[in-house]
Amino acid sequence: MNAAQKTIMNANLFFRLFEGLDDPSRLAIETADGQHISYGDLMARAGQTANVLVSRGVKPGDRVAAQTEKSVAGLVLYLATIRAGAVYLPLNTAYTLNELEYFIGDAEPSLVVCDPAKAEGIGAIAARIGAAVETLDANGQGSLTQAAATVTAEFETIDRADDDLAAILYTSGTTGRSKGAMLTHDNLASNSLSLVDYWRFTDKDVLIHALPIYHTHGLFVASNVTLFARASMIFLPKFDPDLIIKLMARATVMMGVPTFYTRLLQSPALTKESTKHMRLFVSGSAPLLAVTHREWLARTGHAVLERYGMTETNMNTSNPYDGDRVPGAVGHALPGVTVRVTDPETGKPLGPEDIGMIEVKGPNVFKGYWRMPEKTKAEFRDDGFFITGDLGKIDAKGYVHILGRGKDLVISGGFNVYPKEIESEIDAMPGVIESAVIGVPHADFGEGVTAVLVCDKGAAVDEASVLKALDGRLAKFKMPKRVIVVEELPRNAMGKVQKNILRDTYAKIYAK
Ligand code: AMP
Repeated sequence: MNAAQKTIMNANLFFRLFEGLDDPSRLAIETADGQHISYGDLMARAGQTANVLVSRGVKPGDRVAAQTEKSVAGLVLYLATIRAGAVYLPLNTAYTLNELEYFIGDAEPSLVVCDPAKAEGIGAIAARIGAAVETLDANGQGSLTQAAATVTAEFETIDRADDDLAAILYTSGTTGRSKGAMLTHDNLASNSLSLVDYWRFTDKDVLIHALPIYHTHGLFVASNVTLFARASMIFLPKFDPDLIIKLMARATVMMGVPTFYTRLLQSPALTKESTKHMRLFVSGSAPLLAVTHREWLARTGHAVLERYGMTETNMNTSNPYDGDRVPGAVGHALPGVTVRVTDPETGKPLGPEDIGMIEVKGPNVFKGYWRMPEKTKAEFRDDGFFITGDLGKIDAKGYVHILGRGKDLVISGGFNVYPKEIESEIDAMPGVIESAVIGVPHADFGEGVTAVLVCDKGAAVDEASVLKALDGRLAKFKMPKRVIVVEELPRNAMGKVQKNILRDTYAKIYAK
């Protein structure tokens, strides 16, 4: 095989991202503090960092763990790891040393990169498995950057096959131990390329990037899609609504979690005028309330495009670019992805409108859980479909609707109660901002349907008024036994309501 044939066959995601770069001076990233990083700079910095990784003993297939604040250097570390044929393992910046001990012990990286403030604690954990440690702070400074500055940018991208691992992302693990989802080079590349097409990304696009980069949304969807399209992104360290609305004057796309949208709606500066340069708003990672979708449309003239994905599968479905973006629905299966709904017990495929387990199959679906062959086996059907754990339905027009996580299903008096159905009724009531319906132990019913909700300030909403409004709209077995009004719902960094926390908080309300 000659050299040209060899490079064509390289399925390394880095190789695919930068292949055929015709204009290295093209802008890739702009930061809030005014740095401009071109595609050529990104390649060079990834080359330098890849050289540092190799010098620290990182070999193809090795894991490189990173718990760092969001910075361009952090993104470069991801690119460099992939380029060196190693496996990138990003860790939520909120994880404590205790939690890191599990992830590092489980993944056994050969290098851990962390904030200098945590170097001592993480260093002790890394030492136990013989891993090297480098530092990177929120400004992109640290021992890794210093070392990279002294080495060459030349680096021959390591050959990888489609099926080789590019990354391991631990699931948030609200029940049981968190599991490391193994994602291959082709899982990531194929999904991003399909989204570039589906969402009509071009090199003219400017993405507002305010998501964290330790999660699939900000790391893969936002960054890979932008780079594949040769577009550019404005990289923000955190979500800042005022700044984001200002940036909309020259950006074209924003990807956000639903809380971005609800918080932006609170600003009077969000108008048709301030969003007129934008062409697309994408939401995902948690359900976007239909009411938020409608309010956004009324205020800005833009219909938010909601999509559905997960760490294990990348993106599965999306509302259409052209055509109806249906509030409360997550759209159709992406090209090459098959979505079906099955009976959770038997696995038998169900028809349109029937509620059951959402299962997916396609090049986007991960390879399995790291060092957990039994768990992996349990979550795949024999015909290769991955059991997502999300309950939902596919309507007559082929739109997928998510009705909640399977573990959030409430079984009251032997009947299945889908939280989303009750939440939608409550959310539609005047004065209600949002709600979460959970099941908590109940001596007579097994679980008691319990509604926790947040209201507008001063709204005359209480348990009695909610129950009265629901009466006659819901079957008796679905009626909440208690309705609790709170200031806000507990959420994680991706904006997901943490129902496990609510279940713990209200675990004893039906105790006799
Ligand atoms: P994660 O692995 O952290 O990305 O979480 C994946 C889970 O988030 C999915 O299994 C869904 O339960 C939920 N999710 C993601 N996108 C949506 C969406 N658009 N609507 C409702 N739930 C979503």
